[in-house]
Amino acid sequence: MRAESAPLLLIEDDPMIGSNLVRALGDEGITVVWCKDAQSGENALQINTPSLILLDLGLPDRSGMEVLALVRRAHAHIPLMIITARDDVDDRVAGLEAGADDYVIKPFGMKELMARIRAVLRRVDSPDQHVIGNGEITLDLLAHKASYRNKTLLLPSKEFALLQLLTNAPGSIFSREQIEQRLYEWDKGVTTNAIDVTIYALRKKFDNDIIRNVRGIGWMVLKSPLS
Ligand code: CA
Repeated sequence: MRAESAPLLLIEDDPMIGSNLVRALGDEGITVVWCKDAQSGENALQINTPSLILLDLGLPDRSGMEVLALVRRAHAHIPLMIITARDDVDDRVAGLEAGADDYVIKPFGMKELMARIRAVLRRVDSPDQHVIGNGEITLDLLAHKASYRNKTLLLPSKEFALLQLLTNAPGSIFSREQIEQRLYEWDKGVTTNAIDVTIYALRKKFDNDIIRNVRGIGWMVLKSPLS
């Protein structure tokens, strides 16, 4: 595991499970910030970006699912694993669909949990990372999901392809021709006004500012939201 890793955030109210986890992770050289309810977990997220979040669902103040929703809205890229006693299939599916990277049922062996944490971190670290963004736009390349200013949507292929092209190189301007080529990969029957239609659709779904027009040259997304 990466030695320079940011601390892992553990949100778990059970004192026994929590202290066991802190010890086991410590043995692996992983520092842990341990929060015992949803609110303090959310507060900790305001201060530091953890390398990974381990999230219990049955928390004293509110459901871990609410924490998960908040994490995916505001910190889409942070890997998150649910650790819970709920082994109902519907709960697991709901957790994974809400954006958890893995779901571990209690009681679990520490060895298994460590292996799964490593697997999740490897996926995040891998060069073919499937999440790209500019700090304001986040694209999940596997799920075809796009997030912009607290709004996350599943996009049709053509819209996703266009946004992906621009988001791969924030700050670069793409000409009509370059974008047309990209759209053509997705839809052989692409029409001459496909770009305008697709950009219009994206702006309508998110916000006009999501894609900037540089008059006479082409389109771009900003390098960072502040530029
Ligand atoms: Ca609990």
